[in-house]
Amino acid sequence: MNILFAAAEAAPFVKVGGLGDVAGTLPRYLRDRGHHVRIVLPRYGAIDRERFGLSAIPGPLGVPMGSSGTLWCEILEGRLPGSDIPVYFLERRDLFDRSGVYDDPSGKGYGDNAFRFLFLSRGALETARRLSFSPRVIHVHDWHTAAVPLYLDALYRRDPLLERSATVLTIHNLEHQGIFPRELMDILGTGWQHFHTGDLEFYNEVNLLKSGIIHGDAVSTVSPTYAREMTTPEFGCRLDGVLRTYAPDLTGILNGVDYEEWNPEKDPWIFQPYGSDDLSGKGKNKADLQTALGLPVAQGVPVVGMVTRLVHQKGMDVVASVIHRLLDLGIQIVLLGSGESWAHDFFSTVASERPNRFACRLGYDPALAHRIIAGSDLFLMPSRFEPCGLTQMFALRYGTLPVVRAVGGLNDTVENFDGATGAGTGFKFYDLTGDAVVNTLSWALSVFRESPEMVTALRKRAMSRRFSWEDTAGQYELLYHRAAKKRET
Ligand code: ADP
Repeated sequence: MNILFAAAEAAPFVKVGGLGDVAGTLPRYLRDRGHHVRIVLPRYGAIDRERFGLSAIPGPLGVPMGSSGTLWCEILEGRLPGSDIPVYFLERRDLFDRSGVYDDPSGKGYGDNAFRFLFLSRGALETARRLSFSPRVIHVHDWHTAAVPLYLDALYRRDPLLERSATVLTIHNLEHQGIFPRELMDILGTGWQHFHTGDLEFYNEVNLLKSGIIHGDAVSTVSPTYAREMTTPEFGCRLDGVLRTYAPDLTGILNGVDYEEWNPEKDPWIFQPYGSDDLSGKGKNKADLQTALGLPVAQGVPVVGMVTRLVHQKGMDVVASVIHRLLDLGIQIVLLGSGESWAHDFFSTVASERPNRFACRLGYDPALAHRIIAGSDLFLMPSRFEPCGLTQMFALRYGTLPVVRAVGGLNDTVENFDGATGAGTGFKFYDLTGDAVVNTLSWALSVFRESPEMVTALRKRAMSRRFSWEDTAGQYELLYHRAAKKRET
């Protein structure tokens, strides 16, 4: 199958979140299954031409941008590192040569983001034409490229290369929808006849994600539970009704884990490698972590790890509201993260007030993330919503038992402990309240105290769980076939 990916990010070229992982990894596994995948990305300033060996394709590419006329760009060609997968970068310095991908250094979204990503969306289709590449499926991601299905339906169906192309939209986070003033219709250039409630009109504005849901041949998200939640008012971010109506087959496909990077048996970042047959190494990593973060070295004190963006989505406000009650349970909490400034101030203050119980490192530190996941006993994720979540899957692989709110991918990847049978791989709670977090951690701690042999069994079971990219790619392949079939009928 010929497959075209259009995305705002793809690792290792550019990665802000989970979208970048999926767009940079899934194509490799699709390639292994024999598909021909090509990827279109913007050439952001941070993507180094030399480092990635990018070379220009001769001749400029014209991208029609409605009332703004045709904008010209260069196409740079490279390969997804370690593969033969072609990647095409749209080179337009005025749009993409900036320090950030979406936001300026103060964290504010660029004022021309709608224009930038419509340029990418339409540019992806123009790139396929330029290359005479006829994709059976075009896989678009989040609002940034969600206009592609509409562009196809409105403007490209007479092109022999694109007339049969099916579209798949994957929603990595429903919170971001690409909502802009209605004047964007002029730049979109598909005509105002698309500005109505059955298309991309949304409370008198333009909603690009909504247009992708309506025009896409298939819509997916990154876990089965999130797929169900998205169709409810609580999690639907005002698009639940649209999803129920236009995406009745909404599919949830879990992201995979890179077990080359996340393997406690050969992790170069951690103090001592260990496997499930000898968990003593885990204790050494715990002591190393306690030492590194200035906490008292005590094997008997359970360590609860957190590695997270410090934002509303991750429930950090709820953790803040009960932090002292949690620390009074006799545990140590280790937090690595960055995000909202109140959280930086708050958690640094707690760290200075309770240095024997709480250690906090603000910033982005992959090496420390590995050490925390290896050295902790429990791993806390009280997310408000969690489309997939990766860190709980890493924690499982390291025998660090997740304590999670049962939402989205957390619900799908963690099995709740059952005291009667000893089954499970972690501990779940349902309400996002301080009491629920305190009670569930207390429950986990009581199991640690009273049934150490059960904890060992839980750890071993957790370490045996796998969320492989092979499985994920197989499920996307089925989705592509479904979308392609729909286009034929
Ligand atoms: P999200 O994409 O919503 O932030 P995920 O759990 O899907 O949450 O992925 C988060 C990824 O970012 C994981 O790979 C995690 O290890 C990493 N990460 C998050 N915060 C930090 C940090 N402060 N330092 C290092 N890695 C981090």
